[in-house]
Parts: sequence; C-alpha cells; structure tokens
Amino acid sequence: GKRINGAVNNALSNTQDDYATSVDIMLKAIVTALLESDVNIALVSKLRGNIRNKLLDKSAKGNRSMTNAQTKKLIHKTVFEELCDLVDAKETQVFQPKKKKTNVIMFVGLQGSGKTTSCTKLAVYYSKRGFKVGLVCADTFRAGAFDQLKQNAIKARIPFYGSYTETDPAKVAAEGVAKFKKEKFEIIIVDTSGRHRQEEALFQEMIEISHVVKPNQTIMVLDASIGQAAEQQSKAFKESSDFGAIILTKMDGHAKGGGAISAVAATKTPIIFIGTGEHIHDFEKFSPKSFVSKLLGIGDFEGLMEQFQTVSNKEDTQALMENISQGKFTLLDFQKQLQTMMKMGPLSNIAQMIPGMGNIMGQVNEEEASRSMKKIVYILDSMNKKELESDGKIFIEQPSRMVRVAKGSGTSIIDVENVLMQQQTMARMAQTVKQSSAGGKPGMPGM
Ligand code: GDP
Ligand code: MG
Repeated sequence: GKRINGAVNNALSNTQDDYATSVDIMLKAIVTALLESDVNIALVSKLRGNIRNKLLDKSAKGNRSMTNAQTKKLIHKTVFEELCDLVDAKETQVFQPKKKKTNVIMFVGLQGSGKTTSCTKLAVYYSKRGFKVGLVCADTFRAGAFDQLKQNAIKARIPFYGSYTETDPAKVAAEGVAKFKKEKFEIIIVDTSGRHRQEEALFQEMIEISHVVKPNQTIMVLDASIGQAAEQQSKAFKESSDFGAIILTKMDGHAKGGGAISAVAATKTPIIFIGTGEHIHDFEKFSPKSFVSKLLGIGDFEGLMEQFQTVSNKEDTQALMENISQGKFTLLDFQKQLQTMMKMGPLSNIAQMIPGMGNIMGQVNEEEASRSMKKIVYILDSMNKKELESDGKIFIEQPSRMVRVAKGSGTSIIDVENVLMQQQTMARMAQTVKQSSAGGKPGMPGM
C-alpha cells in the first residue's frame, strides 16, 4: 500500500495533463509493486490490459477531465476490484459436507505446506459445527508424521487413526476410512505425505490414496510464501488429484500470498480458508477483499470489524458502528476498540489488520507487539474526556496537550503523535466506509 501509494504519488507529480500518459505511468508503478508481491507476470500483464481498457475506454470520456487525485482513486479502485475478481470464485460451487452421511476429505500438498496442521484446524472447525469428525494419517513416508497428527488430534479432542508399522499409505488410508465409516463418522479427513523420493511417485501415491478413499472433497494446502512456483505446483497437483479447494497457510507471516492468485487462476479453484498461525484456532474463512487488502498493504478493516463484534459488548459496537457510518472515528472509539482487542488474543494477528499498526509493530514478536499495544493504551488513558471525544485535531491546535499526555503516560511526544496519526488513518477509513456505503459499493480503506 505504502509502496504503491508512494509510487503513484511520485508518478503523479511528474505527469503532464495527458490523461493516457498519466494512466500508463501509474499503471507501471502498480505493475512493479504487484510483481514484487509475487503475482504472476502473465496475470499482471493481463490485469494491466484490463485496467487500461477500463480507464481509457472511449465511453469513459468523462475520465479525461478528472483531476489527478480522482484518476488515482479510480485506478486504485479498479486494481482492487480486478484483483478481487481474480481470487473470488463466485460461481464455483464449494463442497458442503452433509450431516448423517459420510464425507471424506483428502488433503494434498507439499511437505511443510501445513497439511497436518490445517487438517486438525478443519476438523475442529467442523466439529464445532456439530459434525462427528475423525482424522486419518496416511503419511507413512515421514517418521513421526503419525505422532504429530496424534498429538494435534488429542489436543483438539478429535478421534484419529494411523499406524506405526504399515508402510503402504493407501492401505492405512483405506483402513482408517473404513473404521470411521463403520462408526458412523460424518467427516473423515485424510492427511497425506507431501514428499517422496521422486516427485512422480508422490503424485502416483496421491492417485492411489484417492482411488481407495474416494474423497468427496480434495483440498490442496499451499504455503502463502510460495511465490512464482505456485502456478506450476498447483497445476501438477490438480492433474494428479483434481482438488476442489485450496487452503492458504502462513498468512500471518511476511508473505502476502501473491503467488496464491496464480494458483487460483491456473486451476480455477477457490481458496476456502486461510491459516493465520500455528494454533488450532488460527484459521479463517477466506475473504477476497481482506486478501487483496493485505496484498496491497492496506488494513483489513472488514475482518477487524467482524472480529471486534464477536468479542465486544453490544452497546460499544453499536456506538462505534454508528460513528463510523457517519464517517467519524474519535479517540474514544479508538480506546474502546483497543480495549476490546486486548481481549481478542494474538496481538500480532490483530495488529496486521489495523492500518499502520503492522508497520509500527513490524515483524516483532508477540511480547513486543503487546508492549507497543500497551503503550497506546497508556497514552489513551492519559487523555481527558474532551480529548477522547474529539477527532484528535485538538492536539494539533494545542500541542501542549501532547506534552501533558506523553508525560502522563510515560511515553514520548513522538509516541503520542503516532497514536494520533493512527486514529487519523482510522477516521479517514471511516470516511471511506461512509462514502462507499452511500454508493452501495465496497470501500477501499486506506486508499
Ligand atoms: P505438512 O508437512 O504439510 O503436514 O505441514 P505441517 O502441518 O507439519 O506444518 C509445517 C510447519 O508449518 C509447522 O511448524 C506448522 O506449525 C507450521 N504452520 C502450519 N500452518 C501455519 C500457519 O498458518 N501459520 C504459521 N505461522 N505456521 C503454520
Ligand atoms: Mg504432515
């Protein structure tokens, strides 16, 4: 986001009046940024073509009289929408397991991509929704694979099946599925190996397992940091095990998952969940808008609001929502939101969703993230009612207030300024939300 905005701003300041030229300059900046985020080259060039057509369409003559700022906004909006379209598999039917029936789900993916972890997460997800779920370990390649699944399963209280001695993965898979079927399990999840002495053999193994367990759904697990290799890898798995959905893991890390777009495009298969950490509950439904926001580096406002609503009390949420719908976001809103967030657990996860916060906290660990968050809480606690209920401009008008708050909270003026800047960002986003909800169009927070 910063990178893209910065590039676009630079481009803008160098542009003459020529609309087409400025569109091209801005597009070039965006293309570079997307390539740096590992979005596939062919896709980027197609995207560029689509956007260029949209913006330079003859029917869009009105565009030519737009100011640079309007053009910039339109380009961002178009890029955002085009990227969402790429990862949004609207028309694709995603498998829904049926109650009182046996639903077999098989996992495929390279070693280390997060299959075993995601199997357990999915098992917990369905188990919470009232399904009787069992886990089968068909990874006989790696010593310790069964133990890992077993430990995960025990922690999550999910029944499991595996073998320490059997070396034929198809045989273990068949036995496990048969056993759970007999016991009237509704969802049977089969974990597989992701490595073999030869690649060919791995794909052959997937075909054999799939042949015996006859999955109703096959899921490919993809590491978000895969980058440009995503296309080739997902195509290979698609050929051998025709998966119908993708789980994208490690979205909590540095990778923005640009490679995943290629996997979706190359296999025409939707992403259904994302993994956001090593813990069982670090698992979210995939949202195209949140994904693209992260890819472009803007805060995940929607995701944040959703999570916020689940833990905060009703009145606070209502008051906040009302303010936001009016395009307002006061320091008091900020304070309440932070208090709620402190209850939401893994701070580094949450920080990722707040614009600017990810940058402030950077790639720091949980402890540091928590310290930064507390600092903000102290600063807000040191403000008086008048200040909290304000839009923050009061501090710019009377800087002595900043000095007082810094002293009171045991922080520095720069820390206070940072908090104010953040609140300003949120307030701007509230404005965007207001505008976009008025127009019925999805907003582009932060842009
Ligand atoms: P498998 O070889 O495909 O079965 O992969 P595993 O499930 O064993 O995962 C490999 C490593 O990635 C383990 O250390 C997991 O804890 C870790 N891992 C899996 N999913 C995620 C995730 O969403 N976020 C993070 N940070 N780590 C993950
Ligand atoms: Mg595994």
